Amino acid sequence: MVMPPRLPRMGEFELIARHFTRAAPAGGAVVLGVGDDCALLQPTPGHQLAISSDMLVEGRHFFAGAEPEALGHKALAVNLSDLAAMGARPLGFTLALALPAADEAWLAPFARGLLALADAQACPLVGGDTTRGPLTISLTVFGEVLPGRALRRNAARAGDDLWISGRTGEARLALALRRGEPWARGDLAEVQERMDRPMPRLALGQALAATEGVRAALDVSDGLLGDLGHILKASGVGAEIETAALPLAPALRALDDQHRLDCLLAGGDDYELLFTADASAHEAVLAAGTASATAVTCIGRITPADGGMLVLDRDGTPLPLARHGFDHFAD
Ligand code: ADP
Ligand code: MG
Repeated sequence: MVMPPRLPRMGEFELIARHFTRAAPAGGAVVLGVGDDCALLQPTPGHQLAISSDMLVEGRHFFAGAEPEALGHKALAVNLSDLAAMGARPLGFTLALALPAADEAWLAPFARGLLALADAQACPLVGGDTTRGPLTISLTVFGEVLPGRALRRNAARAGDDLWISGRTGEARLALALRRGEPWARGDLAEVQERMDRPMPRLALGQALAATEGVRAALDVSDGLLGDLGHILKASGVGAEIETAALPLAPALRALDDQHRLDCLLAGGDDYELLFTADASAHEAVLAAGTASATAVTCIGRITPADGGMLVLDRDGTPLPLARHGFDHFAD
């Protein structure tokens, strides 16, 4: 007797039909979704397209055996975070998938996590490609933004306030707890959502793009200081951060001073928006935060380029960044 394969095997078309084909939501930008040679999107007249791609490779960007539902969520979340950082509104996305096998037990939860976020953020899956190969997940998101309103990295000016959404550091603590790094303390359950299920700050990004005086923005994926460096370089400016102003998650309070600061400033995987705004826009930025139900905190200011990047202690003394060990997270 021939034994059936342990897991049902599907052909490519059946797999796409079962897991990745949905009716396009009414009223959105999708004229034609999955199933033809191309998808057709209709952006709002007068808008620019904002496009971003990310590729996630098993063993490199996520652990082999990572929970597929969380992976589906995160794959889309990190792409949507790029749209958020530009101030763009999502229109739809494509998914290129290389799979070692058509494994139902992986595909069903992966698609569930992916499409739940797609539904929640009104960003439908409109097409893609599916092939056999080492597990690789590649997404391209399409969004739209009014000309001249996209929040670019090169737009910061000396004198701007420096702002962060939400709070940083919890995803790094979650990683440390999961890995059993000796300095990490606390309850993994309290922080693991921040690592596994980041929520892109789309509403805030769009509210900021519509706010007069908001200038540069990016999303913090590699650590606050490192990503701030991209704004400083692109804009030709410096910055000062006040450590006392950094929003502190309760879970980080139990850490020693150095590791707390390391998580806050260099943790990574935060997917918060770091942005600059003219000082006169202070109230308007707070209003954008309220309108999008997202906490926003002023953490410092943009300075002339020769000021470099300074992190100020409680009493205003610059911390010795080079000796502070921010590279001990490098792996
Ligand atoms: P083609 O031969 O033109 O590349 P495919 O057979 O690869 O077409 O895909 C058929 C349809 O299914 C296309 O509309 C494509 O966009 C869509 N598609 C393929 N793979 C995926 C996927 N992983 N997610 C969503 N749509 C997909
Ligand atoms: Mg194809």
